[in-house]
Amino acid sequence: MASAKYDVIVVGGGNAALCAALSAREFSKKVLVLERAPEDESGGNSRFTAGLLRVVYDGVDDLKRLMPDLSEDEIRRTDFGAYIAEQFLDDMARVTEFRCDPDLTEILVKQSFPAVLWMRSKGVRFTAAWGRQAFKIEDRFKFWGGLTVEAIGGGPGLVDSLTQAAKKNGIDIWYTSRALSLIADDDGVHGVRVRRSGKTLEVKSKSVVLAAGGFQANTEWRTRYLGPGWELAKVRGTRFNTGDAIRMALDIGAAPVGNWSGCHAVAWERNAPEFGDLAVGDQFQKHSYPWGIYLNAEGRRFVDEGADFRNYTYAKYGRVILTQPGQFAWQVFDGKVRHLLRDEYKIRQVTKRSAQTLEELVKKLDDVNPDAALNEIQAFNRAVRADIPFNPNVKDGRRTEGLAIPKSNWANTLDTPPFEAYAVTCGITFTFGGLKINSQAQVVSTDGEPIPGLYAAGELVGGIFWFNYPGGSGLTNGAVFGRIAGRSAATSAG
Ligand SMILES: Cc1cc2nc3c(=O)[nH]c(=O)nc-3n(C[C@H](O)[C@H](O)[C@H](O)COP(=O)(O)OP(=O)(O)OC[C@H]3O[C@@H](n4cnc5c(N)ncnc54)[C@H](O)[C@@H]3O)c2cc1C
Repeated sequence: MASAKYDVIVVGGGNAALCAALSAREFSKKVLVLERAPEDESGGNSRFTAGLLRVVYDGVDDLKRLMPDLSEDEIRRTDFGAYIAEQFLDDMARVTEFRCDPDLTEILVKQSFPAVLWMRSKGVRFTAAWGRQAFKIEDRFKFWGGLTVEAIGGGPGLVDSLTQAAKKNGIDIWYTSRALSLIADDDGVHGVRVRRSGKTLEVKSKSVVLAAGGFQANTEWRTRYLGPGWELAKVRGTRFNTGDAIRMALDIGAAPVGNWSGCHAVAWERNAPEFGDLAVGDQFQKHSYPWGIYLNAEGRRFVDEGADFRNYTYAKYGRVILTQPGQFAWQVFDGKVRHLLRDEYKIRQVTKRSAQTLEELVKKLDDVNPDAALNEIQAFNRAVRADIPFNPNVKDGRRTEGLAIPKSNWANTLDTPPFEAYAVTCGITFTFGGLKINSQAQVVSTDGEPIPGLYAAGELVGGIFWFNYPGGSGLTNGAVFGRIAGRSAATSAG
């Protein structure tokens, strides 16, 4: 392969790709990143995130290594607890119904903290996610959901820091450069065919890392693999993740694996645009449903809003909303919990209704049967075990009794004005099915052998997430396997 122009080509420009490129650069000289998006839309879904990363830490001393700026005062006022490897493994096993690939999951968990420390060494800065993942009770914050670490500047900050690091390390980044296919023969992969600013060219390399995201922005594949109705979902993030790199790998014999009919999908502003808007970022999401109730077009509740902490239910409830009549629902809250609503409820681009009485509110809910809705709320109110104290920091067991669809925690009667309702639909985040990789992030063929010169990381890898997902695992997944893929690709390139 003396003619190879690059040692490693990385396809994609998000978190997994940039981590792969930085890692490859530690072991080889010439690394190229191909990003399909123009520079002002680059960074994939990673740029749309809040930058939250689920990582194992044994206590505040670990966090201080990652965030040396934590002040003594912040530490005194915060109960960070710990999130040990067993908890992360348990969370992965539980939410994926024990289907997550055990080897890849163990790597994800065990390498989570080393990977973020490594990102820090490249210039990414982290802070504690007080705003979204902790509640203040009597002057002390308590983290409740195993998710404590946030990149400074959120997703845009994360992508900017990684991009700056890549440029500083002499990595070439080509924007508006769409990988079309792999250059491959019996000996493996030798480069990528690219369309760069309208021109198709072949770029040779000793190895290739695929990190170009899932297929959620491809309407036809969504409907084909996730099933009928999925063409009606809104895409939360980038419009560029159309499954290109998955297809490129399948075309040369890579094995598909994982939950091809599954995806991460959440409650998302009903009138949001078809794809994500970087100016709004993740704020179209509506994640405070554990403090209220859902109603559908028939005025009925349809899901246990308090089944678990939000971090463990939000990613599967988008699908439930998609299956409601008209693919929408309203989240309803009363005055007692308004202070708990996340910042995303305060943006300008919300479909919101307010009223001083429930009778008035139900009439304002577009496309909903008002009489049925009022009956449902009244039945819900009667079923609440108000004798159990409400506590948002723990699964408080304050539940309903006797309802066909229970609310298992945080059940509060809706009785205090002002009443508020927010209209949501299903927003798809990313797809779960993808390419099979081994522990070195080598792409495995349908014959069960690694394909020489081909590696993969991030959203387009299958087998890790099934049905559901513990919040903040996507960026960690990209960082851990991006780092491994980059190193493997560079070292195998010799
Ligand atoms: C609104 C929102 C909020 C989220 N919040 C969080 C969070 O706080 N924490 C968390 O862990 N996860 C979060 N996620 C999930 C997270 O974004 C993903 O799991 C993660 O960013 C995936 O990283 P990736 O690098 O694999 O993919 P991406 O970041 O999507 O990168 C894929 C890249 O590939 C490029 N590409 C696509 N096709 C081609 C091609 N043919 N040629 C070249 N390039 C191509 C794209 O342009 C893009 O740059 C969120 C997602 C969304 C949409």
